[in-house]
Amino acid sequence: MYDIEKIRSDFPILSREVNGKPLVYLDNGASAQKPQVVIDTIANAYSHEYSNVHRGLHYLSNLATDKYEAVRGKVAQFLNALSEDHIVFTSGTTEAINMVSYAWAAPRMEAGDEIILSIMEHHANIVPWHFLRERLGVKLVWVETDETGDLDPQAVLDAITPRTKLIAVTQVSNVLGTVVDVKAITKGAHEKGVPVLVDGSQGAVHAPVDVQDIGCDFYAITGHKLYGPSGCGAIYIRPERMAEMRPFLGGGDMIREVSRDCVSYNDPPMKFEAGTPAIVPIIGFGAALDYLMDIGMDNIAAHEAKLRDYANLKFDGLNWLTIQGNSASKAAIFSMTLAGAAHAHDVSTVLDKKGVAVRAGHHCAQPLMAFLGVTATARASFGMYNTVEEVDALIDALELCHDLLG
Ligand code: PMP
Repeated sequence: MYDIEKIRSDFPILSREVNGKPLVYLDNGASAQKPQVVIDTIANAYSHEYSNVHRGLHYLSNLATDKYEAVRGKVAQFLNALSEDHIVFTSGTTEAINMVSYAWAAPRMEAGDEIILSIMEHHANIVPWHFLRERLGVKLVWVETDETGDLDPQAVLDAITPRTKLIAVTQVSNVLGTVVDVKAITKGAHEKGVPVLVDGSQGAVHAPVDVQDIGCDFYAITGHKLYGPSGCGAIYIRPERMAEMRPFLGGGDMIREVSRDCVSYNDPPMKFEAGTPAIVPIIGFGAALDYLMDIGMDNIAAHEAKLRDYANLKFDGLNWLTIQGNSASKAAIFSMTLAGAAHAHDVSTVLDKKGVAVRAGHHCAQPLMAFLGVTATARASFGMYNTVEEVDALIDALELCHDLLG
């Protein structure tokens, strides 16, 4: 059984009030709250187990290294990667995709080569590719969704040409909640020899992930959306691709030897992890992954699907509300616009007065906004601890918005 009361009690912030009202936190798409076990793990690591890692030769450094390195195995388990050696720690998805752009893509692309992107991508999976467009003359090829917000895998595969060097696509849209069939895309792309990068920032939060089953070449996740600390994340990299990558950032830890005239590099994955990493955030990230795996991503997915269906039912009765994208299998992420030209920022301000936290704006997805013909939406994004009562609270607050602003 999914013990929602127990889960809620694990997150101390959920019992606070905001503007005199119980907090209804529906901004999980931007960043999720942290369970007590993550907070305690961080406090314990700083209080009793802190030192730099990979420096060895004293007790605390070995202890911190063991705790830190154990998380690599947890990430591999969470993503069902074959080996922890296929996992590189990053500061988050943004750094992960910039790493792939710089270390893997740039050396093997030239003017006229093509990268296929969906119109739903977050700027983190757009701007690193624009860098290659600006610097190398690489062409960005955009694939649009249908009117429900679904992305047809065949449309992505049809965009492949002899010049296609990479497909970079999100698994779940942070704006529409659309779930993309990244396995079908990868299978078809590999038949044509094209590697696939999956932005799993949202996908890994809402359902189990199996990178071996998907078959993708790169799969990026970010700790703070997975109920862990900010400033940490990871990327799964298929070993063949990892072997093709040049180093990314240069510095300590990523080298084997440095002399006046030359440098040799550490073995992967360390080759891609320069400098002192986010030691304690990554240890906290491990606690978050344990927490999620303990509850079970299947159970979380089933709970969120119930919230999605209940919210859809409620939204259906509101003829002044438009939900952008209504794909049947979407994650519980709803981008809303209100009739009567109430601006998304005004909507979020009124909601905030009722204790309901949503995000308003372009959600770092401006090409999608342009495609949808809107400048901003108010986005309610649900997480593992949200309830049907909170859907009701959102609806009540939206009705107030409609009365005040509509
Ligand atoms: N991709 C998607 C789909 C996202 O939702 C986000 C975060 N909003 C990112 C990438 C970037 O993640 P981060 O800022 O943690 O690097």
